[in-house]
Amino acid sequence: MDFQLNEEQQQLRHTVREFAEREIAPNVMKWDEAGEFPMDTIKQLGRLGLLGVIFPTEYGGAGMGYVEYVTAIEELSRIDGSVGIIVAAHTSLCSNHIFVAGNEEQRRKYIPKLATGEFIGAWGLTEPSSGSDAGSARMTAVRKKDCWVLNGTKTFCTNGHYADVLVVIAVTDRTAHTHGLSAFIVEKGTKGFRPGKKENKLGLRASDTAELIFEDCCIPAQNLLGKEDDGFIDAMRVLDGGRISIAALSLGMAQGAYDVALKYSKQRKQFGKPISDFQAIQWKLADMATEIDAARLLTLRAASMKDAGLKTTLESSMAKLYASEIAVRCANESVQIHGGYGFIKDYPAEKFYRDVKLCTIGEGTSEIQRMVIARQLLKD
Ligand SMILES: Cc1cc2nc3c(=O)[nH]c(=O)nc-3n(C[C@H](O)[C@H](O)[C@H](O)COP(=O)(O)OP(=O)(O)OC[C@H]3O[C@@H](n4cnc5c(N)ncnc54)[C@H](O)[C@@H]3O)c2cc1C
Repeated sequence: MDFQLNEEQQQLRHTVREFAEREIAPNVMKWDEAGEFPMDTIKQLGRLGLLGVIFPTEYGGAGMGYVEYVTAIEELSRIDGSVGIIVAAHTSLCSNHIFVAGNEEQRRKYIPKLATGEFIGAWGLTEPSSGSDAGSARMTAVRKKDCWVLNGTKTFCTNGHYADVLVVIAVTDRTAHTHGLSAFIVEKGTKGFRPGKKENKLGLRASDTAELIFEDCCIPAQNLLGKEDDGFIDAMRVLDGGRISIAALSLGMAQGAYDVALKYSKQRKQFGKPISDFQAIQWKLADMATEIDAARLLTLRAASMKDAGLKTTLESSMAKLYASEIAVRCANESVQIHGGYGFIKDYPAEKFYRDVKLCTIGEGTSEIQRMVIARQLLKD
């Protein structure tokens, strides 16, 4: 077994870290406080090939794999989880759904533009009355001659207001429950579709979380993505990859929270010595570093299995569950190590504390991850 990134992967980590520290770090609090979507930075990431890391070069991607992708998401999220989630929803949800379920024409039409950042992507599965129970979606798609007519509302859609292309899941056969859902590609500006409420959030405030409203929205028949009624099954496949990216998002924020706590603990003096001299603080740092390492190993295992073409339902959920829960703990301890300054917006600890909570909720809550894991364990 080899626990090291290869030279190319290390170079990628270095490049993304430098970019994040130079281009993102100085703006983090400005974007957060204004709830400002960092469009210029996202476009820059597109030009650098970081919006299409997992797609082959013939589709405009970087031709790399999930190990490189999670490395990039981790480094972006170490500085700003908002940028991390924007890239994650764009890449492993929207673009990847088109890549894995789309026909050649759809792949050629959308992936190059998504991979280079010409288009921003979003993915809408959740509805106001169906979150964890995503199979109970109500939005409908009815075939009328050469188009599909979409009616309904999606909620909590990352990038929804800024997306040029969206993948949404709708009911095509009400009697068949999860076997009666289909996926559709919707382009921005299509008549009958509009983004609705922009959510005002606890954290990840520079990312966009939108309601999507469909009222007799006619989309061309060829925008059906994958086979009719296979939308839910494809969405679950997409989430196997998506959950690895949420593990990486968690990992990046956990690492960021740890890094600032370590630095602060060496600088802050109480009782005549740096607080890092106190065993109580050392044990917190030791626990954080150990948990972060374990989360990284789980995340990279799932990523490398994905790159090897293996099924990762179990490993993706384990990585997502563990990384998100330790990230919440690390962000909490980071605030604690900062004392009162951890509660103040001049220090980055408070933002990690707010941002990281999404990771135990998005793309399946911790409770749902435990259900997925248990189901896999009890299968045989
Ligand atoms: C910032 C943000 C971004 C998001 N981005 C997207 C996106 O881009 N696309 C998208 O489709 N969705 C997105 N979501 C939605 C997210 O995936 C859902 O919020 C999540 O799946 C939980 O659904 P819910 O909010 O309806 O909670 P609910 O399903 O109502 O859950 C409420 C509570 O009940 C628990 N619960 C539910 N069922 C069970 C059960 N069977 N056993 C035990 N406990 C259970 C849950 O774990 C949770 O604790 C986003 C959400 C947020 C907050």
